[in-house]
Amino acid sequence: MIDKEFLLIPGPTPLPPRVISAMTQPIINHRGPRFKEMFQKAMIALKELINCSGDVYLIPSSGTGAMELSVDNFTSKGDKVLVVDTGIFGERFYMMNVARGRNALRLKVEWGRAVQPEEITEVLISNSDVKAVFIAHNETSATTINDIKQISSRIKKMSDCFIIVDAVSSIGVTEIDIDNWGIDVLIGASQKGLMSPPGIGIVAASKRAVEYAMKKENETYYFDVKSIKKNADINQSFTTFPVSTFLGLSEALKMIQEEGYENIYKRHLIYRNLVRTALKEIGLELVANDADASPGLTGIYAPKGINANDIISMMRERYGVEIASAQGNLKGKAFRISHMGYINSNDLLVAISALECTLKDLGYNDIEMGIGTKKFLELRRKFEV
Ligand SMILES: *Cc1c(COP(=O)(O)O)cnc(C)c1O
Repeated sequence: MIDKEFLLIPGPTPLPPRVISAMTQPIINHRGPRFKEMFQKAMIALKELINCSGDVYLIPSSGTGAMELSVDNFTSKGDKVLVVDTGIFGERFYMMNVARGRNALRLKVEWGRAVQPEEITEVLISNSDVKAVFIAHNETSATTINDIKQISSRIKKMSDCFIIVDAVSSIGVTEIDIDNWGIDVLIGASQKGLMSPPGIGIVAASKRAVEYAMKKENETYYFDVKSIKKNADINQSFTTFPVSTFLGLSEALKMIQEEGYENIYKRHLIYRNLVRTALKEIGLELVANDADASPGLTGIYAPKGINANDIISMMRERYGVEIASAQGNLKGKAFRISHMGYINSNDLLVAISALECTLKDLGYNDIEMGIGTKKFLELRRKFEV
């Protein structure tokens, strides 16, 4: 087959041609006026997207760096913190807090469901000295989404601790409202819902979180919010910035404004529903329950007797569709199809039909070939997507 790849992994996600061509511009001076103007525009666009009246910082790192920055700058050594662990990224927050000498409590939730607000408040009742709650919004590993609005409002009723949210795979996918939800710190990255190449981390902070970081003792140099803010206030980055990635991100932010936030969130929900319905039609079991399923990606168990990694390889080699392995304990047992960012129903149609062929190729004969694809086509017409 001719070499053409359909990239359906949860980051890095496919790039719109407009973003690609923006990145082919010559490098510009990252301390010059043109960069400053673009940097300011990007910060304004991001503030609007996530409704943040505090600060937004762009940093040269992947999402994990921005997560670590949040531990180093918005909590202090010895602080008691609560980490909600609904999957790999919750676990990552926990490990970081431990590595940085925080007294971290871990609320572990089984994969496939969202945390209930009461589970969090219950821990806070017996631990009123918790200084910060860390939680992933869209848990990319378990393919679930946590209801941050609800969780935050419940926490606020009983504690003034910081609420620190990993939104790496939810910015540009589903609504986020920092000001009204009462989020103190929100972490993002360029390479998922924001349709840009990897390389830029995003940190949004409420006014009180910024005040805290300004007063606290430095624990880090590269990711020190004091230096980052000093530069952000004059529309530049602390250190050298990944300029080409940034040219791409700036263009992607324009595209997001053009499409409209509500349209984007609706599109992701429709794709989620189409994909899930088609997969169920094939007879496959999904990792996340319906109520908590992520709008950005879907986790699928391999049928009994088939290794998920064989599905992934066959999809890649025979059909040119790149999907993702599951993580943690689900490796080999499940796989993930992403529908976040620059994806449309044509891409998903290819994925669903290639999956049906792949299952057949691997000896899964329990299904009528094309049954999931047919369902997908019907729904696609119905929803006009
Ligand atoms: C992708 C992702 C990250 C960060 O990963 P990086 O590889 O460091 O960019 C963090 N949290 C979530 C929920 C993610 O999906």
